[in-house]
Amino acid sequence: MSEARPNTTTSSAARWVLRTPEIRQAQLRHSRQTVLLPALLVVVLLPFLPADMPWALAALTFALSGAIAGCLGVSVGFHRHFAHRAFRAKPWLRAVMAIAGQTAGQGPVIYWTALHRRHHSFSDQPGDPHSPRAAAQDKPRHPWQAFWYAHVGWATDHAVPMPTRYAADLRTDPLISRINDAYLWCLLAGLLLPTLIGLVWTGTRQGALVGFYFGGVLRMVASTQFIWAINSVCHTFGSRPHDTGDFSTNCAWMAPLSFGECWHNNHHHRPTHARFGHGWSQPDPGWWTIQTLRFFGQVWGVLEDGADAQARDPLTDAAPPKAVEERRS
Ligand SMILES: [Zn+2]
Ligand SMILES: [Zn+2]
Repeated sequence: MSEARPNTTTSSAARWVLRTPEIRQAQLRHSRQTVLLPALLVVVLLPFLPADMPWALAALTFALSGAIAGCLGVSVGFHRHFAHRAFRAKPWLRAVMAIAGQTAGQGPVIYWTALHRRHHSFSDQPGDPHSPRAAAQDKPRHPWQAFWYAHVGWATDHAVPMPTRYAADLRTDPLISRINDAYLWCLLAGLLLPTLIGLVWTGTRQGALVGFYFGGVLRMVASTQFIWAINSVCHTFGSRPHDTGDFSTNCAWMAPLSFGECWHNNHHHRPTHARFGHGWSQPDPGWWTIQTLRFFGQVWGVLEDGADAQARDPLTDAAPPKAVEERRS
């Protein structure tokens, strides 16, 4: 793998983003609500869990909520469908994917899409919102400090990509815009659903607490760390079978809980390709989900060919100027 080739300038990296004191306050507030509070609840509620733990309920609510938020919501919906437009989907499914993704606590769908498209435009260069390499270039940092910034620190410290530039296609979609505005309600629904499952399963408040704990707060803590690890771990450790000009990697050990996102070097090689894992040795639950939805006719136009994928790059046909021009200016 050759060294990444810095080809952006400070001026191009500072373009098309917003950074104000109000945004910084909103980032701090969001991190307190979706990162610190769930982590605190995981610790505080531990002594209140029943001694005769219903482990089947705990596993079901954790797995179900994780699959809805992490797989269908973030990996299939936010990432492959909304950010990269790797396949087309029926309106009801677009709505479900947007709602499911918003239960993960990673921000509203339009913000997330804009942020991720920005990541690909400036991958590991100045302007990338969450890159260990860009963080080290931005200011003198020890490599582990830069890694920590890419994993956690960026969440309260990044310039926010302008939706008018990076997600114009979603801003003009009335259904997605309405769901985007209902972000907090989606977050609450993601906590309420496993709580209700626990209540119905056992008929007791203890059961509701188990559902809330495993399917709500513990799931949110786990999914946040795995999603953030794609930004940090999968741009630092692992293999680089494709020379993508950045430091994206494939990390096999993250396969069980990343829903295929850990094949990140494959993804940077062909960003609008719907399939991330190549072959049986690279399990890709997100891809299996897309195939299942396609089997039932809810998904079509799935991009599996590099040439087709290039033709539908969301940044080159959604908003001028073209991403490649932005990177080189
Ligand atoms: Zn990446
Ligand atoms: Zn991507």
